[in-house]
Amino acid sequence: MGTLTNISTMSNTAGKVIKCKAAVAWEAGKPLVIEEVEVAPPQKHEVRLKILFTALCHTDVYFWEAKGQNPLFPRIFGHEAGGIVESVGEGVTELQPGDHVLPVFTGECKECAHCKSEESNMCDLLRINTDRGTMLNDGQTRFSKDGKPIYHFVGTSTFSEYTVSHVGSVAKINPAAPLDKVCVLSCGICTGFGATVNVAKPKKGSSVAIFGLGAVGLAAAEGARVSGASRIIGVDLNSNRFEEAKKFGVNEFVNPKDHNKPVQEVIAEMTNGGVDRSVECTGSIQAMISAFECVHDGWGVAVLVGVPSKDDAFKTHPMNFLNERTLKGTFYGNYKPRTDLPCVVEKYMNKEMELDKFITHSVPFSEINKAFEYMLAGEGIRCIIRMEH
Ligand code: NAD
Ligand code: ZN
Repeated sequence: MGTLTNISTMSNTAGKVIKCKAAVAWEAGKPLVIEEVEVAPPQKHEVRLKILFTALCHTDVYFWEAKGQNPLFPRIFGHEAGGIVESVGEGVTELQPGDHVLPVFTGECKECAHCKSEESNMCDLLRINTDRGTMLNDGQTRFSKDGKPIYHFVGTSTFSEYTVSHVGSVAKINPAAPLDKVCVLSCGICTGFGATVNVAKPKKGSSVAIFGLGAVGLAAAEGARVSGASRIIGVDLNSNRFEEAKKFGVNEFVNPKDHNKPVQEVIAEMTNGGVDRSVECTGSIQAMISAFECVHDGWGVAVLVGVPSKDDAFKTHPMNFLNERTLKGTFYGNYKPRTDLPCVVEKYMNKEMELDKFITHSVPFSEINKAFEYMLAGEGIRCIIRMEH
């Protein structure tokens, strides 16, 4: 306990409520409002983070729009970010103030059957939960404005200068890593890259179809490129994505709108029966079905990554499975956030992985709504939001 108290007193805000700026979503689909909010100190097994950079992922947009998802407002969104530990709560031994960290929307308690399994990152305690807006320790929020609670999002809520997370949802990384770049590993890039290299596992010389060429899909394409895939077919409804996708190894393009038959048939014709692997990164149920049906019988594997709407149902003929096609899905590219993310950061530091080319826009925190506009317009890949402490 003595050590813990010493660590806490290293920051002069430890144990106190911090007043800071946060971008609050008061209502579904309405621009975020920068407000002064109160951020309570971290409780047992929690840490309070000073966020330095955050980015917008499409998952934030779905829950902010709340069209196909349960509404929960007021809420502070944001889950792709980098920051520094400000203070730690009771029982936290693996992090201390000053540590550089990436919060992750799906955590790792390191104790449950999933965390102990080599094959799973679906932690029993901290796996992604988009409907919970409170902290596990006491079922309350750490954010408030004038005494009224503001809900959390996926245990990260990074659209705030300070946030509180469970220690299991925070990965400690090399302090030399530039947070304005590696913050994109906190969701999109690990998700797409891991979906290909950890789950789809294409062989050298194989063909891979990538559905959706946003940050997640382009990271999936990058995974196919480094795996030595020879044909990487990008599928997107927005043809403007195709030029940019060339930088990520995509060498053929299909816009489903250009064809009057299902895109899976178009791909089957292009590839003599289907691709070896496909990775779906759109969130569209139609694209998920196409991504499955476009893989070759006998050996094809399709991986779903896009977050579906809550009422979606996957419909395909069972013969597609009997004919030896495999369908998989993944959160966070099957990476265990605390165990694996520091190593992925090292890959970037050793120049084995490129991140800079994913970052096409950057805005100050005060202009966070612009990041939403870029995404809704299908412009660019990732927009970094710079906090203005
Ligand atoms: P994005 O908006 O930047 O990119 C999505 C792309 O898909 C766009 O270019 C869009 O034009 C395209 N698209 C949409 N519908 C399509 C269709 N029917 N056919 C072909 N292309 C279509 O989004 P992003 O941030 O890259 O996220 C991609 C998806 O991944 C989202 O659904 C997001 O929620 C999900 N996601 C999942 C995880 C996970 O762990 N499973 C993590 C992060 C994001
Ligand atoms: Zn995300």
